[in-house]
Amino acid sequence: MHIIRLDNDTDFEGWRKAARRLALNGVKPADVTWTVRGGTELSAASGVDDLPDAPHAFNVPATFVELTKAAILHRNGERFALLYRLLWRLRSHHDLAGDSDIAEANAMARAVYRDMDRMIAQVRFREIGRERNAHYVAWFEPEHHVVEAAAPFFANRFADMPWSILTPDLCAHWDGHAVSITSGIDKSEVPNEDRLEEAWRRHTSGLFDPARLKLMEMPQAYWRNLPDDSIIKPLIEDAMRMTSGPFIANKASEPHQPQQPQDRPMARKTTGDSIAALREDAAGCRACPLWKNATQTVFGEGPQTASIMLVGEQPGDKEDLAGKPFVGPAGLMLDRALDEAGIDRGKVYVTNAVKHFKFVPRGKVRLHQKPATPEIRACRQWYERELAAIKPDLVVALGATAAQSVLGKITPINRNRGHLIEHDGTKVLVTVHPSYLLRLPDREAKTLEYQRFVNDLKIAAGWLRRSARAA
Ligand code: SF4
Repeated sequence: MHIIRLDNDTDFEGWRKAARRLALNGVKPADVTWTVRGGTELSAASGVDDLPDAPHAFNVPATFVELTKAAILHRNGERFALLYRLLWRLRSHHDLAGDSDIAEANAMARAVYRDMDRMIAQVRFREIGRERNAHYVAWFEPEHHVVEAAAPFFANRFADMPWSILTPDLCAHWDGHAVSITSGIDKSEVPNEDRLEEAWRRHTSGLFDPARLKLMEMPQAYWRNLPDDSIIKPLIEDAMRMTSGPFIANKASEPHQPQQPQDRPMARKTTGDSIAALREDAAGCRACPLWKNATQTVFGEGPQTASIMLVGEQPGDKEDLAGKPFVGPAGLMLDRALDEAGIDRGKVYVTNAVKHFKFVPRGKVRLHQKPATPEIRACRQWYERELAAIKPDLVVALGATAAQSVLGKITPINRNRGHLIEHDGTKVLVTVHPSYLLRLPDREAKTLEYQRFVNDLKIAAGWLRRSARAA
């Protein structure tokens, strides 16, 4: 039996090194016990040191590495063993599709991403000290081990102010230069009032939209940590009073009519920001480092009444200079395919998952770089606000980055294209990005893949036509 003791709950590197050595030496999952410091007296080294360096390495897909990095942050004590079982099967070329372990690992990763999203949304700093001695402190109770993973986001977002995020597990601190991590503390040690309090309350009340109230959305475990806890109850009560007024009361007495797709845009267009206002806000976004080297924010474009929203990856070189999405070679390819599928681009809202151009300079050329998961996640706020403003009947995700942003998880394109996916009440179609077609090496593959792309868009067009007819 090999007992592996990892340094801490988020020790991905420790897990990776041990798992690799175990797998290369043919140690079966049943012969390994995983624990973290404090769980056993044995050291991590004693778990694998007796194993020789195996001569042959093996590779795993990048998606598995991403999945492992996320799932390891889950609080489930079995996660290390589960991930090793998956690695073991991957090494034996086992097909993981339909595997119950992979389903559980994906569920863990999703829960971790949700927890990070909530941390990003809910952390609110309180000011301690004044002027030159000011320090900003926030309290959060994460459901999973997300503090270290989320800290870089706050370091980018609040780079100019020294802050600490305190949690029962770990505390993250930023001194303007580097993030440091210390052990967790008790909530009673956290200050709970400051001179910014009233401003925050006013700010939150102003943001609150009663028409978008969804009481079931957030597990109640999170409610106690909401910085604006004291104002939430009155806001909800007000919203309930407004939505139980005469309009709803009269509707309730009518026989139930299924909502038709064409009814929804008009009813829903009454909420959400205007695209012009969002574009203005996003122009100053500094939520991730991509703004630093890009020329400008490239926001979405198209009518606010659009039934279809197309989401690409990020602006390219031409888009970055023009400040408009899909105006380069991939945009021309997209225009042609939309036309063949019978979709009028003028009636479509077009945007990107990431709004700033990510590139590496090579002489005079700027080489496109794929956005990383933290950048996609940081920029998702803009996609969500565009979605709330446009309220399309259908979202088409073009490529893996767009699919990850739209569906909130890594989604393989080939396995998910060709049919509509229901996600959070929105119909989603996943297909390739037109730039993929441009990169294909031979003419035959290009023609074939282009036709598949057009066929995917025809699915979107057909569904919209049927919905309109049904309405
Ligand atoms: S890429 Fe998105 S999140 Fe990052 S700075 Fe630009 S707009 Fe903000």
